[in-house]
Amino acid sequence: MPSQTYLKGYSETIQQQVQQLIEQGKLKSYLLQRYPQTHDIASNERLYEFTIGLKQRYMKKAPPLKKVCFDPKVSVIHHALGLNAHITRAHGGKLKASHEIRIDPCFKKCPEDFLQMILVHELAHLKERDHNKGFYQLCQHMLPDYFQLELDLRLMLTWQKLEQKALYS
Ligand SMILES: [Zn+2]
Repeated sequence: MPSQTYLKGYSETIQQQVQQLIEQGKLKSYLLQRYPQTHDIASNERLYEFTIGLKQRYMKKAPPLKKVCFDPKVSVIHHALGLNAHITRAHGGKLKASHEIRIDPCFKKCPEDFLQMILVHELAHLKERDHNKGFYQLCQHMLPDYFQLELDLRLMLTWQKLEQKALYS
């Protein structure tokens, strides 16, 4: 099922339910009903402010973020939606770590919930590098609906891949 590449980690039951939605042509209306509106955070500056807002609220003690941006290379080169870079540079004889978050430009036109979900995911990586239990607890702490939102984001990507176009434009 090539349409389901985004749903590999999910149970057979969920994958079948999604397949059914696709076959009945109901995937689009399911998504638009739940998420009728898109956000208006389209520039890297606004994205940075929005992310810092989340960080201040939930992860004040995590290392500072130097940069947050939309980056078309993220999905093409890394086959990921978001990327977290820990860059260590020698700085005046000391090693200085700086942190960057880069996300796929597909998040420019999407519901705010999905944007928040990917940012929460990348912020959680400031503390936990792996996708372990602690990592997901942190995600849920910042966004109680995290798991539902991740699934629904993957449904949007599935639809977009099938239709070869963006759901929101
Ligand atoms: Zn991750």
